[in-house]
Amino acid sequence: MDATYQSWGRFPAARQSGVVPNHRDAPLPLDRASGNTYLPFGNGRSYGDSCLNDGGVLIDCRGLDRVIAFDATAGVLRCEAGVLLADILPLILPEGWFLPVTPGTQFVTVGGAIANDVHGKNHHVAGTLGRHVRRFELLRSDGSRRICSPRKNTEWFRATVGGLGLTGVITWAEIQLKPVANAAIEQEVIRFSGLREFFELSRESEVSHEYTVSWVDSLAGGAALGRGLFIRGNHAGEGAGPVPGAPGRPVEFPLDPPFPLLNRLTLRAFNTLYYRKQLSKQKRALVHCEPFFYPLDRVRKWYRLYGPKGLLQHQSVIPHEAGEAAVRELLERSLNAGAGSFLTVLKEFGPLPSAGMMSFPRPGVTLTLDFANRGRKTLALLDELDSVVREAGGAVNPYKDARMSAESFQAFFPQWRAFTAYADPCFSSSFWRRVTDGARVKQEVPA
Ligand SMILES: Cc1cc2nc3c(=O)[nH]c(=O)nc-3n(C[C@H](O)[C@H](O)[C@H](O)COP(=O)(O)OP(=O)(O)OC[C@H]3O[C@@H](n4cnc5c(N)ncnc54)[C@H](O)[C@@H]3O)c2cc1C
Repeated sequence: MDATYQSWGRFPAARQSGVVPNHRDAPLPLDRASGNTYLPFGNGRSYGDSCLNDGGVLIDCRGLDRVIAFDATAGVLRCEAGVLLADILPLILPEGWFLPVTPGTQFVTVGGAIANDVHGKNHHVAGTLGRHVRRFELLRSDGSRRICSPRKNTEWFRATVGGLGLTGVITWAEIQLKPVANAAIEQEVIRFSGLREFFELSRESEVSHEYTVSWVDSLAGGAALGRGLFIRGNHAGEGAGPVPGAPGRPVEFPLDPPFPLLNRLTLRAFNTLYYRKQLSKQKRALVHCEPFFYPLDRVRKWYRLYGPKGLLQHQSVIPHEAGEAAVRELLERSLNAGAGSFLTVLKEFGPLPSAGMMSFPRPGVTLTLDFANRGRKTLALLDELDSVVREAGGAVNPYKDARMSAESFQAFFPQWRAFTAYADPCFSSSFWRRVTDGARVKQEVPA
């Protein structure tokens, strides 16, 4: 497999028939008559196959790496779509601005982040990234270019935000940033003993804290089921004290072991130590924003821990009413299957509607589980988890997924048929073919 074009989970493998670079000012190098399918590729930080195009051609957008304009007074940034968030932060932070929404890694492109309408720890107050996008240019395979915004070409805007790269190539985008006093975060970490306490903390914190997220000890069962650490924070004000320095260079996970290093034994030891890492129930600290937002970026290629068969992530969102019971069941089923999840994350999404017609976030509680791929056993467990989510009226995140059935996807995203009207007839992905049973895209809207 070409490691340059794999997703973060390294499953499934895809062998694209070609890769074409996307250069500014040049027309898309597509051969519309060839019958090939095309898909934009950002930086491959999606976990499953939504950024892959097995048998088709990838359009590598990383060549679009130029910042076009930055208005440091109004906090408006316009850049090409292949620019990484990691390249934006050093430009905007010293000028008193921060990203309005950021995922848990800074190594994603602006185009990829918009196409997945990503969410962050501030979803309960800021919604998804798409809500902060002022406009972008959409380039279609027929060579047409459209400026899309919440007020112009609105339907194309709604289809492309969260549109999984299927509506065309975003060439550049303009984002409204948020003002900050400095690079520091006032962070609090609170140990909680179970799900009831998590929900109490979450409700209390959504009014006091801009950022909230929790790590859950997925191997704790019985009375300790759902215990974990609740992490919340706010941007520090002017007088908060000396701003901690940015951490040094990240390290790279040094080997690619032939089997997963994560097993029940190592996980149990890690989880217990991590849960007890602070002696007091609650700990406050002034921290630099980088370790607060991107703790996983400290170790490059950490997916290697999961072994050569890769890792499968399962992120679901469950409506608030059914949240506690469904999260309990998802955790219990994972525990009973003997499949420990390493990075189990729990957070409540807020009520702000997502900007895209296919966006994943909706009001409710979101649980993310990571499993080493152990073949059929893991796939069977994930199908079981999908059923719990369906039963509870929730949804599973497409850009974390590598295996959900077409039936499940179509139940989670019934609007998918309406969306196909906006998909580019030459574009497709491994994910899209799998979850739509290869449904042909039909042009129903005026070009
Ligand atoms: C450690 C880690 C933590 C993460 N945390 C979060 C989180 O907290 N919240 C969250 O929402 N996500 C999270 N993610 C997922 C990640 O943020 C998203 O998958 C992101 O969209 C990946 O961006 P990318 O640039 O790598 O794009 P890719 O993964 O390469 O592509 C993503 C999608 O965008 C499309 N695309 C790429 N470029 C363009 C373009 N120029 N025009 C049109 N379409 C395009 C692709 O076709 C694909 O469908 C995390 C991932 C990792 C590895």
